[in-house]
Amino acid sequence: MIACLGRIVHDSDAESKLDDDVSTIFNSLNLQGSIENGDVSGIASKDFGGLYSVKPLYLIRPSGAEDISRVVKAAAGTPHLTVAARGNGHSINGQAMADGGYVIDMRSTGENHFKLLTVNGSPCIDVSGGALWEDVLRRCVSRFGLAPRSWTDYLSLTVGGTLSNAGVSGQAFRYGPQTSNVTELEVVTGKGDITVCSETQNPELFFGALGGLGQFGIITRARVKLQPAPDMVRWIRVVYAEFEEFTRDAEFLVSQKEDESFDYVEGFVFCNNDDPVNGWPSVQLNPDQEFNPAHLPQTAGPVLYCLELAFHYRNSDQPSTVDMAVSRLVRGLGFMDGLISQVDVSYVGFLLRVKRAEQDAKANGVWDNPHPWLNLFVSKSDIVDFDRTVFKKMVKNGIGGPMLIYPLLRSK
Ligand SMILES: Cc1cc2nc3c(=O)[nH]c(=O)nc-3n(C[C@H](O)[C@H](O)[C@H](O)COP(=O)(O)OP(=O)(O)OC[C@H]3O[C@@H](n4cnc5c(N)ncnc54)[C@H](O)[C@@H]3O)c2cc1C
Repeated sequence: MIACLGRIVHDSDAESKLDDDVSTIFNSLNLQGSIENGDVSGIASKDFGGLYSVKPLYLIRPSGAEDISRVVKAAAGTPHLTVAARGNGHSINGQAMADGGYVIDMRSTGENHFKLLTVNGSPCIDVSGGALWEDVLRRCVSRFGLAPRSWTDYLSLTVGGTLSNAGVSGQAFRYGPQTSNVTELEVVTGKGDITVCSETQNPELFFGALGGLGQFGIITRARVKLQPAPDMVRWIRVVYAEFEEFTRDAEFLVSQKEDESFDYVEGFVFCNNDDPVNGWPSVQLNPDQEFNPAHLPQTAGPVLYCLELAFHYRNSDQPSTVDMAVSRLVRGLGFMDGLISQVDVSYVGFLLRVKRAEQDAKANGVWDNPHPWLNLFVSKSDIVDFDRTVFKKMVKNGIGGPMLIYPLLRSK
C-alpha cells in the first residue's frame, strides 16, 4: 500500500517533468505539427502483428517534411536516440516502433502534395508518404478517371509504408510491385536533409529507400505512375484439386501478353471441408451460390486450390462482349467443372475488397488478435515440395485466415 502510494506520487512528478520536457523540445524544434509525450494516444506502441509493444519517448505528428527534418536532425545529434516513421502501423514485428525514441506519425501529413502531373507523356500523381492508398485510389478515380497500376490486397496502408517494403498483389506479374511504379521520391535522410531522388537523381538513395524498411530515410512524397481506371471488374474464382494443375494455369496466365490474360491473378489454398473460415464456404464470391463438393474427385486431398482472377472493363462495353472475352480466357484452364464462381463489381469496390473483411473482423472482435503472418518468395523449382510439406501437411487444417499463393515473374 505504501509502496503503491509512493509510486503514484513519483509518477505524477515524473509526468509533470515530462510535460515540461515536451514543451521544451517542442519549442526548441519549432514544429508546425504537434508532439505527444510517450504514447498517450496508445497508437505508437502497437501494430497489426500484436506480437511486440515498446513505448516511444515522444510521438510526433509532423505537418510535413520540414518538421520531419527538424526531428531527425535533433535525434541525429543525440547518441542512441532512434527514430521510426509510422505509416498506418500494419507491420507485424514492431518495425514502426522506437523503444524510448521518436515515432513520427506520418498520417498527419496524409493530405500533403496531392497533384496530377504528366511525365514523359504519361500521367503520374504526387502523393504524401503518409497518404493511405485507399484515399489515393478514391481521389484518382473520382477526380481524374485514373488509378495507380500496382496494388496491395488491402489499401488501409500508407504509401511510405508499402514502398518501404514492396507492395505486392495480383497486378505485380504485369507491372511489378509498387516499388517499380514510382518515378521520384522526396526523402528526409538520416542527417535530416530533404532530398529529391529518382533513377537518375541520387539513385542510391532512391533504390535504398524503395524496399528499404525505413532504414534509408523517411519518404515524404512519392510520384506514382497512373493508368486509365476501368469502371468494372469481373471477379472470378476457379477451384483445383491438384496443385500441379493449379500452378500450371497460374504460371500460364502470368506469362501471357496483356490482351491474352486477366488483369489480376492471385490464388489461395483452402481446406477440403465445410469449415466456414478455412473450408469450402470461404470460396464463393456470390453468397447465393453454394460450393458443391459433389464436383470434387475422389482423389482430392486435405486441401484445395483456388485461382482468383479479375477482368477489367468499362460501363460502355456490351455485356456479351465481356462474357465472350472472359469465356475465351477461362476456356483453356483445367479447373474442376462446376467449381467456378464469379461476380461483377465496381473497380473501386474490387480494390477495397479486404476492407469489407476488416469490417467483419472488427465486428466479431478478431481484428485485434495477434497476426504472426509470414510472406515468402519460393522459387518455382521448390514450390511443389513446399505444397507437399507445408500446405498438405503442416497447415492442412487451416490457419484461421488466408493462405495466399500466386506466381510472380522474376523479370518484374
Ligand atoms: C490486412 C493486411 C493486408 C496486407 N496485404 C498486403 C499485400 O497484399 N501486399 C503487400 O505487399 N503487403 C501487404 N500487407 C503488408 C503491408 O504492406 C506492410 O505491413 C506495410 O508496411 C504496412 O504499411 P503501413 O503504412 O501500415 O506501414 P507501417 O507498419 O507503419 O510501417 C512499415 C515500415 O515502413 C516504415 N515506414 C512507414 N512509413 C514510412 C515512410 N513514409 N518512409 C520510410 N519508411 C516508412 C516503418 O518505419 C516500418 O519499418 C498487408 C498488411 C495487412 C495488415
